[in-house]
Amino acid sequence: MSAKELHMSTKLLHSARASETDSGAMVTPIYQNSAFAYDSADAIEAVFAGRQAGYVYSRMGNPTLTQLERNLTVLEDGLGAISTSSGMAAITSTVLALAESGDEIVSGNSIFGGTYSLLHSTLARSGIKTRFVESTDVEAFRKAITDRTKLVFVETIGNPKLDVPDISEIAKVAHEKGIALAVDNTITPSLFQPKKAGADIVIHSTTKFINGHGNAIGGAIIDTGIFDWAGKRYQHLDNIRKRSGNFAFLAFLRSQIFRDTGGCQAPFNAFLTSIGIESLVVRMERHTLNAIKVARFFASDKRIVDVRYPGLETHPDHKVAGRQFENGYGALLTLSLKDRESCFKFINGLKRARNAANIGDVRTLVIHPASTFCRELTGEERQAVGVSDNLIRFSIGIEHVDDIISDIDVSLYNI
Ligand SMILES: *Cc1c(COP(=O)(O)O)cnc(C)c1O
Repeated sequence: MSAKELHMSTKLLHSARASETDSGAMVTPIYQNSAFAYDSADAIEAVFAGRQAGYVYSRMGNPTLTQLERNLTVLEDGLGAISTSSGMAAITSTVLALAESGDEIVSGNSIFGGTYSLLHSTLARSGIKTRFVESTDVEAFRKAITDRTKLVFVETIGNPKLDVPDISEIAKVAHEKGIALAVDNTITPSLFQPKKAGADIVIHSTTKFINGHGNAIGGAIIDTGIFDWAGKRYQHLDNIRKRSGNFAFLAFLRSQIFRDTGGCQAPFNAFLTSIGIESLVVRMERHTLNAIKVARFFASDKRIVDVRYPGLETHPDHKVAGRQFENGYGALLTLSLKDRESCFKFINGLKRARNAANIGDVRTLVIHPASTFCRELTGEERQAVGVSDNLIRFSIGIEHVDDIISDIDVSLYNI
């Protein structure tokens, strides 16, 4: 049976096996090395010249990272992957590889707060402008594209608004204009393969579900192999394309962006994340099953003003989500209570759900966005990301669902 015919849960356990070691080690060791030595000046010259494959310095590559990158490539059915120090480093590196001062990005407006700030403030200060559009409005993407647009960017499920953009329609718009589409798939790994909807670049914060255990910050960039980098918007890749063909984007990232900006992942973090990704499919199944049960349980509860979950028929983007996400709707859901005070009382009354600024942990996590990660946003920005004072976000874990529901149920009596 070829690797292609295997299921994703099997592939993630068996198809990225390390070849660097002949010791029979079942798990790729942590190559805690900064540099790699060569027997001769000729040998190291050949690697530097790109005539010979090899590791030189861990900022550009390391065998423990390679192991993780193989599995990330499998996960997204890509051409190749690069692991990064964080999800933010993955997004920053992607933008820097494609855009320069004077260029533009078109991005959905319902995106992770750190990404919004990166695009809106930090990159804008260095001359890369982002036009934000309503994430679910395909025509708005088309209208915002100009001659200087170098990247279209969306997330699979807006966080915490939980809206679901139609990625295949947005991909068509980007491709008509010869622009690459990057999709941040942090919230739905293994539930959805953005490549199938036409995405050219997939980005992950592996910190979340891929790691799964909340023990290592990390990120990833995967080139799905769809995009032809010979396009006229990307002439800066022409030179590297002569040597690397359609690997031009990945080669440019590694040999220039990573060399120059240093967003590499630490080997120990890659080791932890490699262990996490092996059980991703099973965990996502459980996260998803639990989340839909929690959403259904509380959907008609009088103590709650609103429950939002893309898997509920009442969700405004339920149709798009149903078409897009083959394997379920993910672990994030939001509850709206009466006001901010009831949210605080409710969170303080939870016994098992942990109050933390993270998602994708095996444990159920809860947070009040307006007073935490969205506190710096203006009123208009809060509306764009769907945050009001009475909103609570859950990242449903893999505990037994009855225990998650009873924790929420008991605490709702406090408010
Ligand atoms: C957390 C997150 C990021 C940033 O990732 P870090 O690993 O925290 O740097 C980017 N996008 C999404 C959707 C996220 O949830």
